[in-house]
Amino acid sequence: MTPDIAFLPGATLGILGSGQLGRMLALEARRLGYRVQVFSPERDTPAGQVADREHVADYADLDAVRAFARAVDVVTYEFENVPAATAHAALECAPLRPGPHALHIAQNRQREKDFLRAAGLPVPRYRPVASLADLAPGLDHVGVPAVLKTAASGYDGKGQVKVERREDAGAAWDAIGQQPAVLEAWVPFERELSVVAARGLDGAFAHYGVIENTHANHILDVSIAPAAVPLTVLAQAVEISRAVLEKLEVVGVLCVEFFLTRDNELLVNEIAPRPHNSGHFTLDACATSQFEQQLRAVCGLPLGSPAQPRPAAMANLLGDLWANGEPDWAAALAVPGLRLHLYGKRQPRPGRKMGHLTAVGDDARERVVHARALLQRDEGRTTKDEGVSAATGSAPPRSAYKSS
Ligand code: AMP
Repeated sequence: MTPDIAFLPGATLGILGSGQLGRMLALEARRLGYRVQVFSPERDTPAGQVADREHVADYADLDAVRAFARAVDVVTYEFENVPAATAHAALECAPLRPGPHALHIAQNRQREKDFLRAAGLPVPRYRPVASLADLAPGLDHVGVPAVLKTAASGYDGKGQVKVERREDAGAAWDAIGQQPAVLEAWVPFERELSVVAARGLDGAFAHYGVIENTHANHILDVSIAPAAVPLTVLAQAVEISRAVLEKLEVVGVLCVEFFLTRDNELLVNEIAPRPHNSGHFTLDACATSQFEQQLRAVCGLPLGSPAQPRPAAMANLLGDLWANGEPDWAAALAVPGLRLHLYGKRQPRPGRKMGHLTAVGDDARERVVHARALLQRDEGRTTKDEGVSAATGSAPPRSAYKSS
């Protein structure tokens, strides 16, 4: 049943944030006949390039936020560090989905862990750390090794440091900039998993099963779906995810990241109230992508089928691939069935997510990894045509890579 407050095709979706998640959401929204406006402090952004309108202002410019929200029918966001004041200013002028509570919880690791623990959901042992003096008792509680993570603004391993020995506590506190943090037990996990799921305005729930993720330098490297896990692990991961979406009253897509231990115990690492990098394969492998699902949920439409007929894999393309010139797109695209997604970013910095590859089928993982290897140019061998970049439509200054 379609709820009363549905924004139908032709309506305007507003997106706070303008990175690749906003771009893929905007592209799906436009395919479905929606108008799209994005808001961020930058110009010519991945999402702005494909939107009807790009609002360029600081998130703290609340008048600009209100003007943006008044110009659209419903607002969502593509990153969880939207400041609370920004979210509330938007909410004065348009529905904000997911609501500000989910943002408030997800943008601070301590609140997130407190919420999960209070909900009876499994998390690694942790202790809040407000000052250096909290670290010794914290290490007594969680043990060594441990990980010290800033409570706010951490992602892709930024703002976190491993504490191998008790004597390293002071250096770790300095390394994270002496700010409020969470000390977490080191989990000798067997695998990292995630569940991408959606909750509709009518409370309906849909999920894409369990995805297996491998990281390199703390950044997601390759995802495969479905993950080869026992059915009990699948059921438990989905039920934990359902509980998170329901307890946070999320209307939209949310990702739960897990550690799986050797004893098949699941521990929640973190949650993200938005489409997620590990769910990119859904664009090419599922009846409804995570981005269309996000659109459907925030617009009050029925959720779509998450059905995935065949296994799939995704490999991220980081700026490092540009180290020796433009990647060899033609070589990778010669791999049968390969899908290339590029985000329109002009500066290929190391560690920066520039795009991804997907493939479906039993050998999907091998194909995306092989295709990515073909992209890599050897040192000394640069692109034949230095003039035009397929990624960006222009030649990225080579100094852009070297200077960062
Ligand atoms: P995060 O930003 O918290 O998702 O951490 C990034 C990555 O660091 C994770 O995907 C893990 O590979 C690793 N990591 C984070 N926390 C822990 C932990 N408590 N134990 C072991 N590895 C961790």
